[in-house]
Amino acid sequence: MAFEGLADRLQNTMQKIRGKGKVNEADVKEMMREVRLALLEADVNFKVVKEFVKKVSDRAVGQEVLKSLTPGQQVIKVVKEELTNLMGGEESKIAVSNRPPTVIMMVGLQGAGKTTTTGKLANLLRKKYNRNPMLVAADIYRPAAIKQLETLGKQLNMPVFSLGDQVSPVEIAKQAIAKAKEDHNDYVLIDTAGRLHVDEALMGELKDIKELSNPNEIFLVVDAMTGQDAVNVAQSFNEQLGLTGVVLTKLDGDTRGGAALSIRSVTNTPIKFVGLGEKLDALESFHPERMASRILGMGDVLTLIEKAQSNIDEEKAREIEQKMKSNSFTLDDFLDSLGQVRNMGPLEDLLKMMPGANKMKGLNNLQIDEKQISHVEAIIQSMTKEEKIHPEIITSNRRKRIAKGSGTSVPEVNRLLKQFEDMKKMMKQMSGMQQKAKKKGKKK
Ligand code: GDP
Repeated sequence: MAFEGLADRLQNTMQKIRGKGKVNEADVKEMMREVRLALLEADVNFKVVKEFVKKVSDRAVGQEVLKSLTPGQQVIKVVKEELTNLMGGEESKIAVSNRPPTVIMMVGLQGAGKTTTTGKLANLLRKKYNRNPMLVAADIYRPAAIKQLETLGKQLNMPVFSLGDQVSPVEIAKQAIAKAKEDHNDYVLIDTAGRLHVDEALMGELKDIKELSNPNEIFLVVDAMTGQDAVNVAQSFNEQLGLTGVVLTKLDGDTRGGAALSIRSVTNTPIKFVGLGEKLDALESFHPERMASRILGMGDVLTLIEKAQSNIDEEKAREIEQKMKSNSFTLDDFLDSLGQVRNMGPLEDLLKMMPGANKMKGLNNLQIDEKQISHVEAIIQSMTKEEKIHPEIITSNRRKRIAKGSGTSVPEVNRLLKQFEDMKKMMKQMSGMQQKAKKKGKKK
């Protein structure tokens, strides 16, 4: 998961101060020393760390905090707010041209994930914003790039504009925009050429494309795992081209988070999206506040709810919620909901979005893979109707019978029953949170 190392350290530090009834300057100083080390270890730019520590310290020793009734929690609130500010405050939106098509130039170094991200972004534009994008293959130097984009276009069932590798990228961009107007594609995503390093020829070409296509957005795609290198790349692209946003890829593999926490401050360019995997739906809008909340172990309930909304059949969910409330949730329902929850992504990642999930030990051990799912199915199918409704009647003799009947083992049956209980607990919490969120929404 993204930021794991940083999150662990910061959460430990915050834990120490959380419950304190009194906080003095020495406590704050001690805490900030640990925060500083945690950030530096996460490869956050040292100037950014210095400024951050100063801002938080100044606020944390202020009257509003030290005199408050819950100083420990107030300090954490300050840390969260400043972390959010560091990453850009508000979620930044994607441009819409009032004279379509909206043109987005995708730029970046080779291997950063530019072509994949172009496909992911097109997918997101269609899925979330109901748009009708066209992809443009303007990377004529990397031999496989055009093919790669065409393959993505096929997977997404979206048009890909290409003129092969013998026509200049500027000409390709020009003809693509004309074609998009003709075909009523409201977004044009230009996959430009990458290089191994920032060089003049590349920048020259990108500037030419920019001049001609007058893009509404220029998104730089950088690999989060390269840490401060990504920040330097962002800085030079921004100086030469004037970026409107950054897409940070491979955040799924980035345990440190240095790039995510430094880019905005160093380059003054917002992170607009983050890549969280290789699949075409693994791109999310970047929400600084939610990310800060995740880093500090306060969960990310909003993202969880959004994921649930787009992946879970509402009617079924309501049915399940009713069943949970009336305590008539059975193992058959469990099997059903397991499938739906799995659509939302790896369970471990979902759990980490829940506040305090790191402390729910039983849940952290939940690991479900494809093979296990079929075992789960077999186990549940080997139960009697009564057992599925009232699993508490499943004695050890019954467990043996079920294991035999399903071709599994007693420990596996035990594990499933335990998971069922855990799942029940988790879903109860989730439905509670959803209701709270709804109430809040109504108040606004
Ligand atoms: P380009 O040279 O910048 O166009 O890079 P590609 O789009 O070909 O991507 C390079 C590699 O990074 C591919 O194997 C992608 O699947 C992978 N990749 C891209 N984005 C992500 C991401 O967010 N997470 C992970 N884990 N891999 C990614």
